[in-house]
Amino acid sequence: MSIIQAEHIMQNDPGHARAAHEARYARGSAYMHGTYCPVDEAAIPLLDLGFRHGDATYDVVSASKGYLFRLQDHLERFERSCAGFRLRNPHSVEETSAILTRLVQLAGTREAYIFWCVTRGFRKEGGDHNDPASYMNRFYAYVVPYRYIASDEMRTRGIDLLVSQQFIRIPPKAVDPRVKNFHWLDMQQSLFEAHDKGRDFSVLCDSEGYLTECPGANIFLIKDGVVYTPHNGCLEGITRQTAIELAREAGLPVHVERVHVSQLLDADEAFITSTAGGLMPVNSVDGRLLGGVAGPGQLATRLHNLYWQKRWDGWLGTPVEFG
Ligand code: PLP
Repeated sequence: MSIIQAEHIMQNDPGHARAAHEARYARGSAYMHGTYCPVDEAAIPLLDLGFRHGDATYDVVSASKGYLFRLQDHLERFERSCAGFRLRNPHSVEETSAILTRLVQLAGTREAYIFWCVTRGFRKEGGDHNDPASYMNRFYAYVVPYRYIASDEMRTRGIDLLVSQQFIRIPPKAVDPRVKNFHWLDMQQSLFEAHDKGRDFSVLCDSEGYLTECPGANIFLIKDGVVYTPHNGCLEGITRQTAIELAREAGLPVHVERVHVSQLLDADEAFITSTAGGLMPVNSVDGRLLGGVAGPGQLATRLHNLYWQKRWDGWLGTPVEFG
């Protein structure tokens, strides 16, 4: 079985073609301060604490073939994230859903990357700094054409992964990684480290050498037909949940538990998961070919292909109507 060329299909198959949209939305659409605009015109005020302190939460859902994937799960996770950081979404879940849908329609993107966030915003005149109720939280959203962490080429040969030596993922007692947050510097710096060492992508451990997650993605490994993924220190990714479900459906036992980095180095196969790219197979870890052979493993390939085939059949999808 070979890796479905999902990116090529999304860009060339008529069922995935971009719907009619105004030229000003060619690069995407955005929503801020209650109005819709082209993505390039959207801006965050300098004094918004979301910008100054990274004091915000966000979520990203994707659309493919015009279906929003697991929209309700993303909306619910977002509400939990707001509660986790004591933020208040000024829009109800229904309003949020309607705004995201409208943005996809404006941009005509059947293949879409859909981002929204709530920032701490601004403190009310005279409000107590330490009281979350003193802040006017702000909502922003944008939609752009779908983005991949790993291109068709990269997924076909498998990702060359680096276990970061210089960085650990921020510990849960500092910033809770289950709450989707703007704390990206550990992850971003580890990507530069990977680049310096000639690798495609990175994975971060905790201070004791247990796997946490990758920049914007969760990590899975397969050993002797059993699938493993870390149970904490990471975001509870919606694609991670999807991969767990697909693996169980395929009859593979899945262990969600503490996973030591040595298990990854000794794995038969591995893959990462993210809304930005789905399931993406790993080729090597720190230069070691997983399973001793080059290229994505058989099970990772099967799960990768199932993920896209099922999505394109409308599985767990909310269809967007285009005019
Ligand atoms: N981990 C982090 C830190 C992320 O930012 C993301 C997504 O952006 C993920 C994991 C994957 O989560 P999901 O599958 O919900 O996109």
